[in-house]
Formats: sequence, structure tokens, C-alpha cells
Amino acid sequence: MLTEPSSKAGYIAIAGRPNVGKSTLLNALLDFRLSIISPRPQTTRRRIMGILNRPGLQIIFLDTPGIMDARYTFQKVMSRAIQSSVTDADFLLFLCEAKKGSAETKIAVQEELAILKKINPQNKPVILAINKIDLFARDQLLVLLKIYSDLYPFSALVPISALKKDGLNELMSELEKLLPLHPPFYDPDVLTEHPERFFVSEFIREQIFLYFREEVPYSTEVQVTDFVERGRGKDLIQAVIYVERDSQKGIIIGRQGAALKKIGLNARRVIEQFLNREIYLDLSVKVSRNWRKDEIKIKKFGY
Ligand code: GDP
Ligand code: MG
Repeated sequence: MLTEPSSKAGYIAIAGRPNVGKSTLLNALLDFRLSIISPRPQTTRRRIMGILNRPGLQIIFLDTPGIMDARYTFQKVMSRAIQSSVTDADFLLFLCEAKKGSAETKIAVQEELAILKKINPQNKPVILAINKIDLFARDQLLVLLKIYSDLYPFSALVPISALKKDGLNELMSELEKLLPLHPPFYDPDVLTEHPERFFVSEFIREQIFLYFREEVPYSTEVQVTDFVERGRGKDLIQAVIYVERDSQKGIIIGRQGAALKKIGLNARRVIEQFLNREIYLDLSVKVSRNWRKDEIKIKKFGY
């Protein structure tokens, strides 16, 4: 692993309402350099969207699932699963989209920023990217920039078009400015070519964290055992949820399989959104007795 002291590396949480262009931006930034996701994060397991590697620079983008959905209550917003990305991040990249500069917009922006404040109680620096500027006239953009900068102390405001790849260099240089000096967290050379499997298992794990309390989620490991891309038909993904005890297996499956069904349904939705295609998700539950205490089992899981 490179360790030159001049290199920068850090975690950036991407937040923003659904549909503002987070995925598009990430794809545009990562380009083909998405030197992909290690299935074995050396540190805590977290929700990684992508890793950007450039000479002397490594950015790990963290997702902040659903935080901008109005249906999320404050409790849910603050829940551990959703908050962890922000907690882990060095700073936030907040994405919004260009809209007309009306009074209505101001209220919408205020609501948007109220949620931003809630998810960022530690007041980490926030860079604002105003996306989709290809759709709007310059004067509208200026009004919007003013509204945002009046309402929140952003570290920087950058107008972009993720779709047209406009303003991305400016955005990158603002991100780079805020990144701490640090050697890369992940070795750029040993990143694997199976990011989707990793994401899929993380999305399933996330559902388990959302549904169960106490030690059940922590006793859970998810392994994707099969991932069949079927061209015209839906992809088939098979995954096994491992728990440590029989009692936990019963909990995960639930009465007449209700819990497992619900986990599967929600995980499938999230995975489909991520993969941008429909899938069959086949989940099963197995006991790997006390796997967390068993080094061989842990190794087998890929840690
Ligand atoms: P996400 O839900 O925040 O991840 O948003 P997506 O990346 O899925 O984008 C939502 C929609 O906005 C898609 O139809 C994109 O093509 C579109 N979109 C994203 N960025 C831009 C942009 O810069 N300009 C325009 N016109 N459309 C964009
Ligand atoms: Mg998206």
C-alpha cells in the first residue's frame, strides 16, 4: 500500500433527496476508475458506494440510504443504520437539483436543509453540489445558489450537471481540498472485480439491521452464493443468511416465514434500485454455530 505522506484519503457521505442524481454523479466521478469495492473492508463494515482512486488520492464514497425520504421519521433518520455513514464520514457531499427560484423553492430548500441538520448533528463540513444545471437558466441558478448559501454554511457550493459531466473538475477540487492527508485505506491494486456481490450482501444485512434489535443483526453474516446474470430475464441472486444459533434462525425466519419474506422483499427493492434492473432474490437461513468466535469460519466468510 502506498504511504507517501502527501497523499490524501477519506470518507465522504453522499446525501440528498431521491432522484437528485446521486447515482449518476457517482458513476460520472468514478467513471471506469471505479476501482471497486473490496469485499473485505479492513475496518468496520459500512455502506460503501464506490472508491475513487487517483494518484495521491483516494475517496471512499458512503451512501446515506433513504435519509431524504419524507416518509422517514426523525427516529428512523437517527437510527444507527442510517446515521453510520455520516458518523464515519470526514465530511458530506450534499446533492440537490436545480429548480426555479420561487418562494415555494425557498420553503422546499428549508425543509431539505432541516433534514441535513438532523443527520449532521456533529456539524461536519458540507459541500453542496447543485445538479442538473443543464436544465436551467443561469439566472435561476444564481437565485438558487443564494437561497442555499443564505440558509446553510456550506464549505463550498458547486453547480454541476452529472449527466453532461459539467462542473465535475470543480467539484473534485473542492472535495480534494477538504480531504485529510492520509495514506489510502484500501490498496488500489487489490480491489476485486465483484462489487455487486458485496453490495448485495450489504443491502440484505442492512434490512436485518432495520428489522431486528440487539444481538441478532450482529450475529448475522450474509453470503451471496450465486449471482446469475440472465441477459433478457431477471438476474437470479441467491444468498444465505448465517446466524450463530438455532433460536436466531427462528427469529430471522419469523412466524410462517413472515420476517424473512419481508427482509427479502425490501432487500430486493434496494438491490434492484442499485443494480438498475429487476432480480429474483432467493434467501435462505443457516446456522453457523458461534461463527464470530471461530477464526476459521470468519476467514471463510472473507474477513
Ligand atoms: P438518485 O436517486 O439521487 O441516485 O438519482 P439518479 O442518479 O438515479 O438520477 C435520477 C434521474 O435524474 C435520472 O433520470 C438521471 O438521468 C437524471 N439526472 C441525473 N443527473 C442529471 C443532470 O445533471 N441533468 C439532467 N438533466 N438529468 C440528470
Ligand atoms: Mg440512486
